[in-house]
Amino acid sequence: MSPMNDKLIVRDYFNNTGFERWRRIYGDEAVNRIQHSIRVGHQRTCERVLEWLGDVRDQSICDAGCGLGSLSFPLAERGARVFATDISEKMILEARRRQKSRLPDSDNPRFEVLELEQIDGRYDTVVCLDVLIHYPLDQVEKMLAHLSNRAGEHLILTYAPKTLLFAALKKVGEFFPGANKTTRAYQHRSEDIEAILTRLGWKILRRAAIDDKFYFARLVMTARPASAGVA
Ligand code: SAM
Repeated sequence: MSPMNDKLIVRDYFNNTGFERWRRIYGDEAVNRIQHSIRVGHQRTCERVLEWLGDVRDQSICDAGCGLGSLSFPLAERGARVFATDISEKMILEARRRQKSRLPDSDNPRFEVLELEQIDGRYDTVVCLDVLIHYPLDQVEKMLAHLSNRAGEHLILTYAPKTLLFAALKKVGEFFPGANKTTRAYQHRSEDIEAILTRLGWKILRRAAIDDKFYFARLVMTARPASAGVA
């Protein structure tokens, strides 16, 4: 599939059935046990990122592929200046709606409809959680190259590791129901992702495996080589 097609299909998914599905997963209403497991795993990922980042006051953070702002909101509440972007207009509209009740009268986070490779500017930290699962490795490499240029101190990302359970889940179609259900979740090898990050000039500062029954993520935090030993 061409890179353009991949993006169009992902955008369409997250503006339609995917929007409803992930809105429920990222909310607190009753969901089935698979979605509940994904919700719990994703919450643990966000908590770990917040723990790793520690004091974020006055830091600039870009949440690339922010979804409904599960990470953007707590970062803003802790004092970071957050630029949050997503390819899906529906996601951004819902995030802005939530902002009105969660952080009224604040324009932080600043939510914008943008795909990863349209993000401009430079930030202390760029975070990209649970997005790379939607793309094959060659596109992941291009996306990480772009995000890398936007990040001053840290790049933090997740990817779906190649595991048997995850492959089974993919077949069941839990991630992508519908005609494309078996073709749309990409798993990546840690060696491949880390090789890309190394080529882009990063050192791996921290790694975590965050697994629940139906949620599998590898979380990586990088730093520029000069500061890699310090944190
Ligand atoms: N990062 C958020 C989180 O962890 O709560 C959302 C994760 S959700 C599974 C994946 C999100 O990535 C969706 O909101 C989707 O619209 C967005 N996305 C997918 N491809 C993208 C791209 N090329 N550029 C920007 N956002 C993208």
